[in-house]
Parts: sequence; structure tokens; C-alpha cells
Amino acid sequence: MTFGHHVLRNRYRLEGELELVTGLRLSSGRASDETDAPLMRTRAGVPFIPGSSLRGAVRSELERMIPDLGLGLHSCTLFLKDESEGACVTASEGLQKELQELSEQLGEGETREDREAKVARFLDDHLCDLCKLFGSPFYASRLAIEDCLPAAGDLPITVRDGVGIDRDTGAARENVKFNYEVLEAGPKFRLRVQAENLEEKDWKLLDLMEFVLREGFFVGGKRAAGLGRLRLVPDSLRVRGFDSVQALWQSITEKRDPYGEARPWAEVRRAQA
Ligand SMILES: [Zn+2]
Repeated sequence: MTFGHHVLRNRYRLEGELELVTGLRLSSGRASDETDAPLMRTRAGVPFIPGSSLRGAVRSELERMIPDLGLGLHSCTLFLKDESEGACVTASEGLQKELQELSEQLGEGETREDREAKVARFLDDHLCDLCKLFGSPFYASRLAIEDCLPAAGDLPITVRDGVGIDRDTGAARENVKFNYEVLEAGPKFRLRVQAENLEEKDWKLLDLMEFVLREGFFVGGKRAAGLGRLRLVPDSLRVRGFDSVQALWQSITEKRDPYGEARPWAEVRRAQA
């Protein structure tokens, strides 16, 4: 089976709702007229949660679960940073050098396609399972997590006073006035994820991801104080997609939606077992 993005084999769309359980402080980094630290907003002025924040939060939780799980899943960040067997390109300079040489040199009588296939094989052998799904600087992610927009309704936004921090010493300064915007608990956000070329190991990682979403995770600032907790609305995660390009083609010829009907996550996974 070919590894990588060159051939499309299957594609799925995961859709659900996230509920903001505690206030969210996710600052844009630029002060506005009203506050020192406004919430991140779309161009239309709507607060949102960047897909990259979600990806980072979920991935770091998965990194903590995998090492002791014993399912043959590997992650590069905690262990295997060196050249030992099972090391990941993302964390190994030696492997990065090898990859660079491989992608630059064209052997005698070798075509560009041959070289690309070689690079794909190398990445298949030398990327950890998390990097293969979530991506790395050397390999584009097969999991596209969209920015999460509010589902509906009014957004309870408040401005809180904070403690000013001295930029030089890092110490709190009483006389420095500082405030920040918070989206208070309650609103729901739309979760949209697209995943491609999933294999059995990827489905296991997605099972873990579903657990993390259900359990709750943190994004934004003041996490230690409990801010920014999001949680999947129970039973809201649904999946649709096609298992093969043959199935895709068939639905195209029959003028059907190739992604089909959305089914509950648990039902899809039970059917695959
Ligand atoms: Zn890795």
C-alpha cells in the first residue's frame, strides 16, 4: 500500500459540537481600544478557536497516553529522540540529514517519481504514528482541523482585570493596569475535522482523540487557573465519508453524495470492529 498523499484511498468528515465549560481567554496578541488583550476574532469580528490550538491540545494529550498503551503506537516527543530503532524524523537530526540527501539526489537512471516513492517509503519507515496522522515539519498532516466557530446565539464576553507583569523581571507590578477579554462559559462551537487515508492505527488514534474531546481539554491562556476548558457535547460526534475511491466513483456515477449520511461515532466504530 502506498504511503503518503500521492494517492487518495479514503476520506472522512467528523462533525460535532464543543461546549465551553469554563471562560476562554484566547488573545489575539494585539491590544484594541477597549482592552489590552482582546479575544481572537474572525475578520467579521466573531470570536473563534483556531484549529491549530485544538490540534495542539489533542496531540499533547495523545502523546501522554501512547507510551504506556502497548498497542504498537509510537510518538516521538517523549522518547526515541536519538538514532535508536523506531526513532522519528521529526526528532532526529541524523534521519533529517538522510531524508534531505534522499530528496536532493537523483540516482543513475532514476526518475523523479522513483525518488518520490523512495522518500515516501523512508517517511513511512521513519515517522512516528502521531506525526503520520497529525503531521510534522517533514510531512503534511492527514488530519485537517478547521477553526471552530460559535454554533449560534449571543456570546457572553466580559473584560477582566489582570495583574500587570514587568516585562524585564517577570514580576507582578501592582501599578500596571492590564485587562483582558474573556468569553464566559456556555457557548457551543462547531467541530469540523477531515481525515484522509486512514489505516487501522489512525482509527485507534482517533478513538483516543474522541475520548480526549469527550473528557475535556484546555486551550488558550490561564489554563492552570482552569480557564479554556472545552468538552464534546455528548453523542454529538458524527462521521461520514467514503472507504475507497471505488466507492467514491460509484456514488459519483449514481449522483449520490459521496460522503453519505452522518452516523454516530460509536456506531461507525462498532461496525468496523
Ligand atoms: Zn514523530
